[in-house]
Amino acid sequence: MSDWDKIVIKNIQTAPQPTEGYIRLSGPLERDNIVNGDGLRAVVWTQGCPNHCKGCQNPETWDFNGGFEVTTKEICERLAKFPGQNGVTFCGGEPFVQPKACKEIADWVRKNLGWNVWSFSGFTYEQIKAAGGDAWEFLKSLDALIDGPFILSQKDLSLRYRGSKNQRLLHLELGTGKILSQE
Ligand code: SF4
Repeated sequence: MSDWDKIVIKNIQTAPQPTEGYIRLSGPLERDNIVNGDGLRAVVWTQGCPNHCKGCQNPETWDFNGGFEVTTKEICERLAKFPGQNGVTFCGGEPFVQPKACKEIADWVRKNLGWNVWSFSGFTYEQIKAAGGDAWEFLKSLDALIDGPFILSQKDLSLRYRGSKNQRLLHLELGTGKILSQE
């Protein structure tokens, strides 16, 4: 494991958490999104990111004290009012620094709305797995993960749902987190 991996894993494990029962968001929920995953999707925009990628399009989402807190219950109720969606995608910010709140919402929409669940992360699959805990539990509740930081020198806008060549679209086995296929 590299020194960089160790720093990233510590960032995952020690990130400031939202108030219990709340999630910290950077903006309103979105619906009918077609660029952050397959089909029509609701999007949850989380606030707080330790990655600080050069060329990030959303630097205003980095501050862990920015954005606003809202209960996960309210998010679920609002998502339930979005008709015709195939799933929900968690975007950032960095969803995996508040994994408990994200997993609560992910599990609820799967059970009650029948939606699939995707997430973006600036961390890699391997870093999340090594961090374990709530981050790994959230990953196990996903159908797909787009992983890795945005690297400006590897920017490629022709990739599906990704901004740079190092990022992967990983299709996952629900409940185990096993990688089924990748693009
Ligand atoms: S992980 Fe995403 S939100 Fe965070 S700095 Fe990188 S591109 Fe920006």
